[in-house]
Order: sequence, then structure tokens, then C-alpha cells
Amino acid sequence: MYAMADRIYFDNAATTSLDGEVLEAMMPYLTNLYGNPSSIYSYGRECRLAIENARKSVAKILNAHPAEIFFTSGGTESSNTAINAAIKDLGCTHIISSAIEHHATLHTVEHLQHTGAAKLYFVQLLPNGHIDTSHLEQLLMEADGRCLVTLMHANNEIGNILDMVLVGELCKKFNAIFHSDTVQTVGHFPFDLRNTPVHFITGASHKFHGPKGVGILYINENVKIQPFVLGGSQERNMRAGTENVYGIVGFAKALQLATEHFTADSEYIRGLKTYLMQKLTVAFAGISFNGDPLGKSLYTLVSANFPKTEKSEMILFNLDINNICASGGSACSSGADVGSHVIRAISNNPGQVTVRFSFSKHNTRAEIDTVVEKLKNMI
Ligand code: PLP
Repeated sequence: MYAMADRIYFDNAATTSLDGEVLEAMMPYLTNLYGNPSSIYSYGRECRLAIENARKSVAKILNAHPAEIFFTSGGTESSNTAINAAIKDLGCTHIISSAIEHHATLHTVEHLQHTGAAKLYFVQLLPNGHIDTSHLEQLLMEADGRCLVTLMHANNEIGNILDMVLVGELCKKFNAIFHSDTVQTVGHFPFDLRNTPVHFITGASHKFHGPKGVGILYINENVKIQPFVLGGSQERNMRAGTENVYGIVGFAKALQLATEHFTADSEYIRGLKTYLMQKLTVAFAGISFNGDPLGKSLYTLVSANFPKTEKSEMILFNLDINNICASGGSACSSGADVGSHVIRAISNNPGQVTVRFSFSKHNTRAEIDTVVEKLKNMI
């Protein structure tokens, strides 16, 4: 294990540390059990069994059917696949999305618009960054072709959570396909996919203490799409290529652990979030928070706006020098910093500097105390 030295890691929305128990579950498939899952002899069959057991475990936790779970390389591949398939295979000619989606979605829908494959519409946002659902309904009503609605479950920069059932019901009413980027919520919230009106969701295990480079795409059993990678019969002919066996095993183990400890961990992490907000509010006059932090919001993150001064502009740089990992997201665009499309879309206030702090079960209140004290010295 590499030591984290005295680093404070408050960037768990970007990625999380690998859980020791997850690594333990993966180890046999990184060492002795190296057979190709497609080989018919026992060495191969053992690996095939590991993949299918992982699929069953993931499906059970999400209340889906194992045949609805496809292992991929992560959230980006899963969203690309779902969006492209909706246009190519499911007859969608219109896409309804939002300006605050992750680039995995945004760049994909913009590409489809540029190539003329689909017309793209952005649903309006309310002042707190939530989707204006009456505008969504209006867009669905006015469309003169089948729509793909792609809206993320939780926003990775500001934490806002979408009402998936409400949006799914609207999509049903207008015979639209609904894809939701659930990368920030799988492993963080319970899912009940059999009772959620959604066609595609995505997940990536590195967001909940699993390995990087492995994800899932859930495809509802009533949706039939064409293979998305050609050249082999893996993933039931849909995604060719020798499987990432240890990654898949790690995904399932991480999801199992996250689910087992959900109540205690989520309560603990929510406590860290409110504690940081309280401390920042007391320490910094004029601080504000993006999104709907005390309402429909991820319990894992705080997006804070510090009034812009010569000193606050250097926050991220100074946090790094102090061994504190957090991420930026200001609206401005200067030099190498292209700014955040999310912050620009919701506030576009050049007079503030945005910092995202995101937590895991490994963080502590003492770390928050240290960070707030360091921030006071910096600003
Ligand atoms: N969608 C959201 C909301 C994310 O936060 C991320 C992670 O950065 C992704 C998609 C992309 O996931 P991955 O890095 O596994 O491809």
C-alpha cells in the first residue's frame, strides 16, 4: 500500500480509494486465476463463473435482471453507448438534455447534433440548478419525432438530484427513451430498477471504492439495441473483447460493501457535509453554495463560492501546496483553466471562485477543521 502521507483527500466525486476488501476479492483474478473466460476448460470456466456471479450480485442489488446488466469500461463508455443506440437503433430523432450534464453525455449529444443525426434541445434550469420539469414536458410535447431524454441522476459538480421517477413517467407519456447518467449515485443510493421507468442507467465502480476502468450499462429488458463493440461473443454478443475479470469482480464486491454499509456511511458522510457548510458560513462572509445543498442533493459534496479576490483566486493552487485535494469549477475561462460549464450554466458570476469538496467514509471532522483553518490563512 502507498501511504497518503498527510494528504487530505476531499475529491471523492472525482474518484475514491480502493477498498482493501475489494482488492482482496480481485487478487485471485490478477494472479492465479488468469484463464480466458471464453476458454472451455476449467481455467476459463472459473473466470466465466466469476463474471456471471458478479453480474447476478449487481443485478440483485439494483433490483434488475442479470440479463439487463452489461459490464463496460466505465461511465463514459456506458453513456456513449446508450445515447448512440437510442439514435441508431431505437428511432430517436430528437434529444432532450441539459447544459449541466457530464461531458460524457454533453459531447456525445453535441456530436450527434453536429453530424445531423438528431436535433438537440436543452431543458431550462431553475435558479437552484434543478431541471424545469414543465419545460421538459413542453419540449416532449412539441417534438415531431421520437425523443431521447438524457438527464443525469446527480450532478457531479453541484450535487443536485433529479427525480428519476417523475422524469421517467413523463418520458413514458410521450413514448420517449430515458437514459440517466447515474455515475454519482450507483453505490451511494439504493436503486429499484424494476420499479423505475428508465431505459438506460450507468455506473462506475471507482466512485464507490472499487477499481477504475470498469462500469456497467443497465439496458431495460424491453429495449433491444445492436451490439456496440464487434469481434467476439462476450457480454452476450453485445460488447466484444476479453473481459476485465478482476475489474468486474471488484465492481460487484465494491457495490456489495457499499450497499451493506449504506445507512451508516451515508449518515456519517452527510454529517461531514453539513459540518463543512456550517464552518465555512461562520468563517467566510459572503460565501454561498451552489445547487440545492440542503434539499435534493448528494450527501457527498459541497460546492462553495468564495468572493473573488487576488487571494481567493489562488485557492486551488494553495490547497494543493498544503496537500489538500479538492477541485475547482469557476465560471471564468483563463489560460489553461477553461472553467466549468456547469457553474457557467447556473450562475455565470465572474465575481466568485468555486471549490468542490467531496467526501467519503474515510474523511473526518478533524480534517474539515484543518482545511477551514488553512483556508482562513489563505484568503
Ligand atoms: N458521469 C459522471 C456524473 C461522472 O462524475 C463521471 C466521472 O468522472 C463520469 C460520468 C465518467 O465516468 P468514467 O470516468 O468512469 O468514465
